[in-house]
Amino acid sequence: MSYKATIGLEIHAELKTKSKMFCPCANEPIESSTEIGSKNAPNQHVCPICMGHPGTLPVVNKAAVKKVLSVGLALGSTLADFTEFDRKNYFYPDIPKGYQISQYKYPLVSGGSLAGVGITRIHLEEDTARSSHDGPVGKSLVDFNRAGVPLMELVTEPVIHSAEEAMKFAQELQILLQYMDISDANMEKGQMRVEVNISISDTETFGTKVEVKNINSFKAAGKAIECEFARQSALLDTGEKVKQETRGWDENKQITFSQRSKENSDDYRYFPDPDIPKFKLSELPEFSAEELRKNIPETPTQKRERYAKDYGLKPEDVENYIFNRELGGFFEEVAGLLGTNDAEAIKLASNYISSDLTGLAKASNLPFPEAFGHLEPQSIADLIHMIKKGQISSRGAKDILKIIHEKGGKPEEIAQKEGFIQKSDPEELKKIIQEIMDANPAVVADYKSGKESVFQFFIGQAMKITKGAGNPEMIKQITLELLK
Ligand code: ADP
Ligand code: ZN
Ligand code: MG
Repeated sequence: MSYKATIGLEIHAELKTKSKMFCPCANEPIESSTEIGSKNAPNQHVCPICMGHPGTLPVVNKAAVKKVLSVGLALGSTLADFTEFDRKNYFYPDIPKGYQISQYKYPLVSGGSLAGVGITRIHLEEDTARSSHDGPVGKSLVDFNRAGVPLMELVTEPVIHSAEEAMKFAQELQILLQYMDISDANMEKGQMRVEVNISISDTETFGTKVEVKNINSFKAAGKAIECEFARQSALLDTGEKVKQETRGWDENKQITFSQRSKENSDDYRYFPDPDIPKFKLSELPEFSAEELRKNIPETPTQKRERYAKDYGLKPEDVENYIFNRELGGFFEEVAGLLGTNDAEAIKLASNYISSDLTGLAKASNLPFPEAFGHLEPQSIADLIHMIKKGQISSRGAKDILKIIHEKGGKPEEIAQKEGFIQKSDPEELKKIIQEIMDANPAVVADYKSGKESVFQFFIGQAMKITKGAGNPEMIKQITLELLK
């Protein structure tokens, strides 16, 4: 049987705020040292509030609320008029209060879309502590630095139908969060976590959905979808039913495995947190769309539009710059130096930046700026000027970039020193070509008797004698003239 997959995503992202969601502790959940007392050791950023001690009161972090509302604005969503926080009750050692503060009935943001996918809602909650089970046998460790870190959860509508679409959405969201400085959204570091809901059906009605957790890369998200599609198809083909459950992704085995049967929202006994005031956001000017918009930087979508309008670049180049922000910034500087009205030079520069510089950086396994040490935008502008003046060939330009990548230097100096300056003196070239013809009268005779394919022989010889530095266009012209 052939089935259609239906996919909805739930994506969590840790917000980049100074302090935690409901207390003044630093928002620094990443453990980079185990040395006791060190700032980045476990359990350094804790206080009675995030440890759930009796008698403490949570205070809402306004910056976190603003960040979630701003994401809503960027996605064309509706911002809540009224909002409240709820307690989601369950026990686990990583949740000191016995409940997580989240939002249930009145999320901050509803609706909107990204990459053609409808958004259901975005709400704000607190992260749990981080438990680690790979320490001493029989013991588990808990790091509460992460407990209470502001976390946004975005839920999409079940409107995605392929692994590619799902990965594209997640990637678009990641760069949006990064551009807006909402979250570093690094999946390997757990700053962004993708959960995949997937069902399959061969009719118009939805099948039973399965949720897959513990996905820590875009690739894994795609694989998990493919794996579930195959598993569920096999079940239905043999007349079995898909069980509604939560499954985990096993990165080593590249399969999903059953974790628990799906709990209902009823199980969590959500109720409004009596310790947190309810908000009538529409009455608080600092949360108004108008106020928030003032601090929203250029989004990837706006940047795509600007690049198309200002530079007329190839879509591949634009996407390269969108996803490699530093490379994009570098390109913009070069374009500025070339002058925005020299469209031809800018496109040429973009070719070298997007293919040659990107390729060389990739080959050395380093991100763009590091791969080149101190490459000045002026160097690329100079290189483009030299090409346009016919001083170097495009082959020469590529070689010069390779040398810059290997040992640095300025294009003009390299061109002089390494002999990339094209020989464009017509008299000198004429002399060289005449000598080639004198030495090969048989080839000249062949050409004159109609065998035009031998023309390339003269070009090849001339390039050889000039060590590749002869201006190819001039060599062609002079050869044609001499053969007449
Ligand atoms: P739950 O109450 O189980 O959390 P929700 O309705 O809140 O379910 O949806 C959670 C996620 O599952 C959303 O991303 C939604 O798009 C997705 N989803 C809902 N129904 C389906 C389905 N039949 N197939 C695939 N995904 C679904
Ligand atoms: Zn705290
Ligand atoms: Mg839900």
